[in-house]
Amino acid sequence: MILPIIGLGHPTLRKVAQPVTKDYPNLKELIANMFETMYNADGVGLAAPQVDLSIRLVTIGVRPYNEKTDTYGEPTDVHVLINPEILEFKGEKEYFNEGCLSVPDIHEDVLRPERIVMHWWDENWEEHTEEIDGLFARIAQHEIDHLDGKVFTDRLSPLRRTMLKRRMNDIVNKKVHTKYRMK
Ligand code: ZN
Repeated sequence: MILPIIGLGHPTLRKVAQPVTKDYPNLKELIANMFETMYNADGVGLAAPQVDLSIRLVTIGVRPYNEKTDTYGEPTDVHVLINPEILEFKGEKEYFNEGCLSVPDIHEDVLRPERIVMHWWDENWEEHTEEIDGLFARIAQHEIDHLDGKVFTDRLSPLRRTMLKRRMNDIVNKKVHTKYRMK
């Protein structure tokens, strides 16, 4: 089931999300719905607060798009993060162009460490502590920000944020059109 996504200005996006407990009702179904919602919106990561659930749950998956056939290939970097926690930042900080389903039509370069050591549980409640890098590390950091009530535009310079102010206000005032459903 595709869930509506909330945008900038919705209070749930600014809350610190609560840990997921093992008895959380219908967790498997929620995870499946989050993947469906994420892929439907052409997203590569989705945090539960973006579907108005203030819990520490994230789905990640990158589907390669084939322009010629207008189809998607098998996703890579597929992960479910339950209660993820960054234990250590490593490597150099680098810029990467980020977007967010809750901040439609805005894409900006964001500076983050290239590698992290992360602890999390997966959808089978298997525990992981791994050093990760590349796209996985980038998306995980963006999504963990959501669990802490932050969005990527918070990490831009004050000047850049001022320049984006009008467009961000349009999102808050629901004046942007998206091909996926927002509430
Ligand atoms: Zn986001």
